Amino acid sequence: MSNPVIRLTGLTRSFQQGGEVIEVLRGVNLTVAPGEIVALLGPSGSGKSTLLQAVGLLEGGFGGTIEIDGTDASALDGDNRTTLRREKVGFVYQFHHLLPDFNALENVVIPQLLIGTESSQAEARASELLGALGLAERLTHRPSQLSGGEQQRVAVARALANKPVLVLADEPTGNLDEQTADKVLGEFLSLVRNAGSAALVATHNERLAARMDRVVRLHEGVLDRP
Ligand code: ADP
Ligand code: MG
Repeated sequence: MSNPVIRLTGLTRSFQQGGEVIEVLRGVNLTVAPGEIVALLGPSGSGKSTLLQAVGLLEGGFGGTIEIDGTDASALDGDNRTTLRREKVGFVYQFHHLLPDFNALENVVIPQLLIGTESSQAEARASELLGALGLAERLTHRPSQLSGGEQQRVAVARALANKPVLVLADEPTGNLDEQTADKVLGEFLSLVRNAGSAALVATHNERLAARMDRVVRLHEGVLDRP
């Protein structure tokens, strides 16, 4: 059997705030299988972003263990952790976080160059993804020349550029109107499925969560159904 894409065991995280300690994650256990799309549901402030940051190896300060695709991330040094993240994980945030001085195509090419993909191959992959998202006519537009929905589509293409085993999405359509959100989420889910990637998608929207393979709920620092 292949390794789970995510395995969290007893994950904890607390923050010091004005002399007070807030325990945000209190022992989260979670296993996500290859190709599985899991909704991470919880109200604002419940710790969804904190949990995604842990899984994305973006920050330290966590207790417990984080395994990504069979590798124990806590055993890695900073450089190896960065390599693991670049090669295996794609991110979509609520706000697109595209590079403002680069066009749509370049924003999807750059992460591929960072892992050593040859530029003509990276450009072909970027145009294919952007084309699948209906952006074939927008390749040379900069982020400021795109609508909110188009910006999020570029962010989705960027997240999938390196064919990651895992996509982490933090309220990926939270900044869009309902109709656009539904459409972009549908496109996101079908691209993730086609790529065979697993995904962990934070949302506070029950309706969007119901479109994924499985729903886990973050409540008082733990997950109900790990
Ligand atoms: P969600 O994404 O579910 O809205 P977050 O993970 O952003 O929740 O935040 C969970 C809790 O952790 C909140 O109470 C928030 O104030 C606190 N928190 C998050 N990041 C920090 C930080 N860097 N310093 C202090 N408190 C933080
Ligand atoms: Mg959040």
